[in-house]
Amino acid sequence: MYLISPDKKQYKANLHCHSVLSDGQRTPEKLKEMYKNKGYSILCISDHERPVNHSDLTDEDFLLLTGYEAYIRYQPNFDPFQPEVHLNLFAKKPDNVKYICYDKDFCKYLPEAEHGTLEKVGSERKREMTTEYVNEFIKTANENGYLVSYNHSYWSMEKEETVLSYDGFFSLEVFNYDSFLMNGLENGCALYNKLINSGKMMFCHGADDNHNFFPDDGQLCDSFGGFTMIMSDNLEYDSVISAMEKGEMYASMGPVFKEISLNNGFLHIESSPVKRFHVYCGGKKTHFYQAKEGKTLTAFDVAEIFPETTFLRIAIVDEHGNMATTRAFTREELGI
Ligand SMILES: [Zn+2]
Ligand SMILES: [Zn+2]
Repeated sequence: MYLISPDKKQYKANLHCHSVLSDGQRTPEKLKEMYKNKGYSILCISDHERPVNHSDLTDEDFLLLTGYEAYIRYQPNFDPFQPEVHLNLFAKKPDNVKYICYDKDFCKYLPEAEHGTLEKVGSERKREMTTEYVNEFIKTANENGYLVSYNHSYWSMEKEETVLSYDGFFSLEVFNYDSFLMNGLENGCALYNKLINSGKMMFCHGADDNHNFFPDDGQLCDSFGGFTMIMSDNLEYDSVISAMEKGEMYASMGPVFKEISLNNGFLHIESSPVKRFHVYCGGKKTHFYQAKEGKTLTAFDVAEIFPETTFLRIAIVDEHGNMATTRAFTREELGI
């Protein structure tokens, strides 16, 4: 069976991005131009607390996904020493701009005139930084046509057990380039393994979370460093969302997968040139291979995966240290 089929087209996507409609520095039109020119096919402009349908920018080679980034904090103002929750809400239909759990104090980027016209759903009580409230928020979003992801887990400062207490995420944002540029620590892969081991099945993806305060061609540019490859039948909105919902995607900060297959315990991986392959199995052991000094590799075989394997997740690391990872594949879906 193929975990990644060589025959399926991979569309490059940035699923987390800010424009001048919140605290980003580029217009939606400019963002489309930038990403299209870099070979991307999909962009979700996920402005803070501001759902906008950007379908007018969609063309036959480039798809805009509707969505926004919601946040829950102890108090509305930013506090760099307190944890907070950021969630990306991806609309399953392009015209879905429903606003989840309205609290006026959290809508600072929304023009005053738009507050009245928002289609509000769910509780409108003051936001609370509690597991109960966050879970109610996620449930409301799911019930109203959104896929919900948990964003930049390192930046958010939440305790691991708190993240593990949430339900209803379709994906964990394991790579967030803007945060990674700032702190060098933003990588949610270890947390992702723990979520899967705890029975919280979800997928994973990567994104830029770009705000573009710096020149596009400079080394501080926060675009084009984290992305998601989506294996969709075509570039239609429904098809892309359906692929995301089924986990037909992987996260990357550079390298790409070309093929992964599993047959009778024999695992075969092909990728762009990389330094290392890691195959996580749910335990302490990994199948692991490091290319020889000065060399890179484009294929790796595991003759027999561990019989105790609880899930498979495959990661690759290129010579610059950039990683890509598949989602976790469970024993059940692998038929082992
Ligand atoms: Zn955020
Ligand atoms: Zn963001």
